[in-house]
Amino acid sequence: MSASPVWHPFWQHGLGEPIPMVARAQGAALFLEDGRRVIDGISSWWVTTHGHNHPRIMAAIREQTEKLDQVIFAGWTHEPAEQVARGLISMLPEELTRVFFSDSGSTCVEVALKMALGFWAHRGEPRHRILVLEHSYHGDTIGTMSVGERGVYNAAYGKLLFDVETIPFPTGVGTNTLAALEAACANHADGSHEGGPPAALIVEPLVLGAGGMLFYPPAVLTAMAEICRRHGVLLIADEVMTGFGRTGTMLACEQAGVVPDILCLAKGLTGGSMPLAVTVAQEPIFAAHWSTDRARTFYHSSSYTANPIACAAAVANLAIWREEPVQARIATLATRQQALMARLAPLPGVRAPRTCGTIAAFDVEATDGGYLSNLAPRLMNYFRDAGVLLRPLGNTVYVLPPYCIDETDLARIGDVIEEALATIK
Ligand code: PLP
Repeated sequence: MSASPVWHPFWQHGLGEPIPMVARAQGAALFLEDGRRVIDGISSWWVTTHGHNHPRIMAAIREQTEKLDQVIFAGWTHEPAEQVARGLISMLPEELTRVFFSDSGSTCVEVALKMALGFWAHRGEPRHRILVLEHSYHGDTIGTMSVGERGVYNAAYGKLLFDVETIPFPTGVGTNTLAALEAACANHADGSHEGGPPAALIVEPLVLGAGGMLFYPPAVLTAMAEICRRHGVLLIADEVMTGFGRTGTMLACEQAGVVPDILCLAKGLTGGSMPLAVTVAQEPIFAAHWSTDRARTFYHSSSYTANPIACAAAVANLAIWREEPVQARIATLATRQQALMARLAPLPGVRAPRTCGTIAAFDVEATDGGYLSNLAPRLMNYFRDAGVLLRPLGNTVYVLPPYCIDETDLARIGDVIEEALATIK
């Protein structure tokens, strides 16, 4: 048993691994209490976009702390929240018009699911069926676990989860994904599905992150959106991980020419500095809740909804997107990631090297490749001891650094991966 009372997330304390103490961070680097420098190869769980402690974001946070720390957001507002909402609306496709705040990726997805069901309920056509993609991950709350892959993450809580319908993972145009989606959307018309028509399809656009950095082509997303539109099924895009440039464009949906009915954004919203999330809806979703009847209120909140300090960080992040060459940095990193995978591809044991924008991944050939395999922690410990933060998903190793990482640090990550693969069998 460890001396610290802290219980860590997604961490098996029983394995007795040391837990590094991080003292500060800058750019793509973490600095430990003992002075060691660690390269942040996963953007501290996919949140840090422009780099740690970005001066503009830190200054905005400092400035906001002098003015307003926190205020109730039910029927009250403040300038940072208004600026985030206006700034986002000006960056996003014009159909997305309403911004609802929350504080994590999981909660903005919960909100999206409630908005979708509320939309149908308030129109007097209640719908409950939710369609999901195989291997999806949308968070760890009860609702988001329900729409995610069932497995080791949530096996103990199965009784609490609601039923959803799973569409096979799209490996390419022409896989049975589209036929299955078409069937799921259509099979109510003749009364063959007692649940009636589906309320919504929820997807991670182009990249299924925690499911193993699985990529699928934009054309499949385009086709899925078209099927949903034709059948009047809402499309929820969970861009919690893919949003803010991860896949090469501001939104992954852009590459498919898709505008979802409901969009979920979190991690990169504050540049990864503060917990904040938004669920952005098209006007009809908002309109279905708009009424003089209080029963049609959108009943969702949390105490810290739209915290002003987090909003100030998001305002600074949006300004960085508007005023700095973020897209050029992303393009540079994307090219370097391709070079990294080309370098690692010929190594023994490396399977399916792949990149999508700033994300690079490959699978390590292993006989016990599941999430619980011993390979992942052994690799992770090797990386940590060599001064690199990487956290394989089962036998999938991925590199997802802040956009500011330089060539030397990325090459060092490549060296350490190469050493680890030669050492860990
Ligand atoms: N949705 C996706 C696609 C994610 O990748 C994640 C987290 O990794 C979440 C939702 C949950 O976000 P959070 O951890 O902020 O609750």
